[in-house]
Amino acid sequence: MTLPAIDTNYFTKFLVDLLNIASPTGFAEPAIAFVEKELSQYKQLSLSRTRKGALVAKWKVENDLPPVALTAHVDTLGAVVKEIKSNGRLKLSRIGGLQWPSVETEGVWVFTSKGEKIRGSVLIDTASGHVHGAEGTKTLRDDEHMEVRLDVRTTSEKETRALGINIGDCVAFDPRVEVTNDFIRSRFLDDKACVANLLAAIKSLAEAGLSPARTVYFHISNYEEVGHGAAAGIPAEVEEVICVDMAVVGKGQESDEFNVTLCTKDGGGPYHFGLNNKLRALAEKHNISFKTDVYVFYGSDGEAFWRAGGDVALALIGPGIDASHNYERAHMDGLNATTNWIMAYLLEE
Ligand SMILES: [Zn+2]
Repeated sequence: MTLPAIDTNYFTKFLVDLLNIASPTGFAEPAIAFVEKELSQYKQLSLSRTRKGALVAKWKVENDLPPVALTAHVDTLGAVVKEIKSNGRLKLSRIGGLQWPSVETEGVWVFTSKGEKIRGSVLIDTASGHVHGAEGTKTLRDDEHMEVRLDVRTTSEKETRALGINIGDCVAFDPRVEVTNDFIRSRFLDDKACVANLLAAIKSLAEAGLSPARTVYFHISNYEEVGHGAAAGIPAEVEEVICVDMAVVGKGQESDEFNVTLCTKDGGGPYHFGLNNKLRALAEKHNISFKTDVYVFYGSDGEAFWRAGGDVALALIGPGIDASHNYERAHMDGLNATTNWIMAYLLEE
């Protein structure tokens, strides 16, 4: 059986739209709602949310085979307001493994608890070259020295508080999405690219009149970047889980932007040998170009489910993402290979 074609225009549009929705961990609801609305057009799916706020889409098929699940996450790195400084600027506390130098001078939105959003940017506290000279290049890019300058008139803590900003408010960094020559460059391709892979696979199957070989749960996670997203929300009847998340590209890594990767071990240990081999066989059967790799500084939502007691076979696949948790980049070849592997898996008994 040949796999149905991927609607790459749809994939790209959906992904760009999703990337442009701010969704740091803890404030990911707008991205969950966006995916929910998109999935609501498929009558094959029944949608629900967990109490924690994850989205679960069940595609039920009539047979006795044990169900499977796929998980990907919409939450991203970000920050919250840690302190309002006496000059009215904000100190931040980072969410997840955000690297300060990668967001220096980036635009931000501060989301208040009352639903207002206020514009600003991230700078070091020695930003002006005319004031600090060479000192600025030596300043450590850390929690102490990075600050948000708000694009509103304020020079005191009192004035900033009067804008409605409070300690703990969400701060989201601009994704800066660009699509050029089949490359997609943006923050937070981890893991919105893989959510788009799931959506593209569902669309291709549905439009080809196909159904998965067994009942599938699509788990859209909202707390992955802090390590416990898929700890809840995957039903106990599920036999296999495929975690779809970015592959690590760079020095010493086998992965690249033009392939999908099967990760056999990461910082949390090895994945499931039997399920890995099932995926390898499927890739060979459908001519899907893939790499195998090992990630050192990496833990997945699938492992969060394992740690929470999930008794499943677990594998991790995903497209190569260059400069991950920094200014990321992916290529359509690796992204399409990921969608194809997902479809191959869904169609296999
Ligand atoms: Zn991820």
